[in-house]
Amino acid sequence: MSVTRLKNYVNGQWVDPPNAGTLDIENPSSGEIVARVPLSTAEAVSQAVDAAHAAFPAWSNTPVARRCEHLFKLVGLMQDHFEEISRGVTEEMGKSLPDARAEVKRALENVEVACGMPTLQQGDKLIGAAADIDGEVLRVPVGVFGMIAPFNFPAMVPFWFMPYALATGNTYVLKPSEIVPCSQQRIAALIHEAGFPPGVFNLVNGDKVVGETLLANEKVAGISSVGATATARAITEACAKHGKRCQAFGGAKNYLVVMPDAKTDQVVRNMLTSCYGCAGQRCMAASAIACVGDETYQTVVKEFLAASKEVIVADPLDPAVANESMVMGPVISAAAKSRILGLIDTGVKEGATLALDGRDIRVPGREKGHFIGPTVFTDVKPGMTVERTEIFGPVVVITKCDSFDHAISVINSHQYGNGASIYTQNGYYARRFKLEAQYGMIGINIGIPAPVACLPFGGMKASVYADIKAQSKAIIDFFTQKKIVTERYWAEEA
Ligand code: NAD
Repeated sequence: MSVTRLKNYVNGQWVDPPNAGTLDIENPSSGEIVARVPLSTAEAVSQAVDAAHAAFPAWSNTPVARRCEHLFKLVGLMQDHFEEISRGVTEEMGKSLPDARAEVKRALENVEVACGMPTLQQGDKLIGAAADIDGEVLRVPVGVFGMIAPFNFPAMVPFWFMPYALATGNTYVLKPSEIVPCSQQRIAALIHEAGFPPGVFNLVNGDKVVGETLLANEKVAGISSVGATATARAITEACAKHGKRCQAFGGAKNYLVVMPDAKTDQVVRNMLTSCYGCAGQRCMAASAIACVGDETYQTVVKEFLAASKEVIVADPLDPAVANESMVMGPVISAAAKSRILGLIDTGVKEGATLALDGRDIRVPGREKGHFIGPTVFTDVKPGMTVERTEIFGPVVVITKCDSFDHAISVINSHQYGNGASIYTQNGYYARRFKLEAQYGMIGINIGIPAPVACLPFGGMKASVYADIKAQSKAIIDFFTQKKIVTERYWAEEA
């Protein structure tokens, strides 16, 4: 079978870019090579940025409602191709089909919210800022923006940013993850069909060389990036050096705190999808559970272990599991699997109890897939490597805390601050959790406190290097600059 070679989309056309070779794209469930992606050179990046730069004057002067017409069309096209895009996400990333559908729905919802830009982008006017003087705040587009994407949400993450950038009148260069570039290739074909003028949206495939070149290009006004914390730091430093706007989202270790009054049966079901959905490779995946009190700990350990054993580990595109509610696919690559297995070994060496061991799981007929079964450590002490590190796989650590205050001190001492949830029926503790947990995304009896597109998204501490969060009207500040106009007119001479 011939393997598709991906292209770049530059200035309204599909092009074979100047490249430093190609990378094979693998279906992580089967090991089958599904595409080849070009590793674009600096020259290819410059061509895309030049196209975006040239398109900016006309696009930024296009009335906002006309700009949104293309986004409305994109909504319809993505709806028409919803199942195809979702299956593509599963094929290249390995998450279950329900997970992939939820991801594509979130991408779509961000386009829908950005379609409200005629209202969202409005400025302010103050009549009588001083005697006979009015003040006005205009929000105007900035220029060319770039996005550097991670592997775990091949369709959705660029949509936290891109629809808002285009609707506000900026032009765009997107670099998908080099590990999962196929979904954005499909979506770029729909963006083309939606009729955006050439150069308004551009897609450049490749590895970190593309990212680094975007960061150094003086025609790029700002970068949004999502990836590991080390990457976010490097990107933030480069943006500061090159004078760019920057939103850099980093890694995570998301805690679930269980109080003694929590409804354990509901809680455990809720935790399961949070911990094992997408094989633990969501930025909002829970990977650590803190139980308050010995009885809570014993109950949660017993029930969570029993439920974890019921998770079906399989190729999510296997028709035999199509109707199963909790299917867990592979991790993204052989390298990721080996890193996760290494961390499990470290957990054992450091004295945590490996209560459920997913290392030796076999999926018949999928021997080349990168599967790891649900893995649970109990008797975990804060400070152990498995508790401190973002494992980004289906590995859950369970800790016992003496009190609510103890749990808060454990979770707040963590370097990451993406998301944390509490399970309780008690409003007093829920309120304190909202206020005291140093996490950007807070859940109350919610396993994955990721918001809908009309609310902002983003963490705290080492999970984010950005003043402005993703999505919703919050992001308009990133994609516009404010001009403050102070005006007065003198009376005509009589
Ligand atoms: P990664 O950091 O390896 O790569 C992310 C992207 O950055 C890729 O496109 C890569 O080519 C590019 N890149 C890497 N180094 C670069 C550099 N020095 N300069 C410019 N570009 C560079 O991340 P990944 O493995 O693809 O994704 C997983 C990570 O992303 C996890 O840590 C996860 O927590 C995080 N993530 C965070 C969020 C969030 O909301 N905070 C969301 C999704 C994923």
